Amino acid sequence: MAGDYPAGRGRVKLEAAGLEIEGVSIAGHESFYKLPAFRCLLEFGRAPDDVLGYATICLTHGHLDHAAGLAHHASRRRLTGLPPARVFAPEEAVPDLEAWLAISQRLESVDYGAHVTPAVPGKHVLLRRDLQLTFLPGRHRVPTVGYLFSEVRHKLDEELEGLSGQEIAALRSGGRQVSHREEIPLLAYPGDCGPEIFDAAPELFRARVLLIECSFLAPDDRDRAKEYAHIHLDDIAARASLFENEAIVLTHFSLRYRPEEILAALEMLPAGVCDRVIPFLPLPAAPVGPVPPPA
Ligand SMILES: [Zn+2]
Ligand SMILES: [Zn+2]
Repeated sequence: MAGDYPAGRGRVKLEAAGLEIEGVSIAGHESFYKLPAFRCLLEFGRAPDDVLGYATICLTHGHLDHAAGLAHHASRRRLTGLPPARVFAPEEAVPDLEAWLAISQRLESVDYGAHVTPAVPGKHVLLRRDLQLTFLPGRHRVPTVGYLFSEVRHKLDEELEGLSGQEIAALRSGGRQVSHREEIPLLAYPGDCGPEIFDAAPELFRARVLLIECSFLAPDDRDRAKEYAHIHLDDIAARASLFENEAIVLTHFSLRYRPEEILAALEMLPAGVCDRVIPFLPLPAAPVGPVPPPA
């Protein structure tokens, strides 16, 4: 046991294509991911102490292994004197989440001031001038949304590249649009999902980092994956040529497997995708590609 987690599971901190991701993810037990570069939290898990400072939370769906921390987080922030967090969640889940917050507030006889904002697929919000959060469709057993973080750049138009600052300023004051907007997809996360997600949200293939569940691995568990609308490792292998991502972080592994079994299964992924895969497990964040022979 590590803390109150089963052997070999628990807190993970890794870097994927330059992005730090820290958290816990065990299917059916607890999931949350801190993204310090974006100052955002994906999922609440059980809302441990060190996620209290996060004021933007992207909740993908209402299963309690992802959402249990909702009222606790709101209550603790209130107690600590922090302003209410901004919580995004699927539109269909908002009334129940709001009702849960209302009952918790009544039980505690306090007002958290917290509300849940519907995340509607296709829409986006600007988190910072240079950071956009886009809501993606989800594919799971309950209403689910995914999230895509993109860097926003304003790039000078190509034909103006040789001009001086003064010349550009003159054009701009004359009403000429001198730059255009570019979005660079940095991290995509669809929450719990079945393989239908790849058709519903092809954006997943193009983000620099794809954080995606892979609850099931063993050949015997294919039907189970289908029944519970989760990804099986075969679904990843079948799409090996489609992933343009620099890093693919596989997460939400079922407790049915020991960490060694997970690593062994990932090593069977086709070359080309195997060396970009990082398991979200409490181990050194090394790619699982073939181990070089000893010198
Ligand atoms: Zn889950
Ligand atoms: Zn779920």
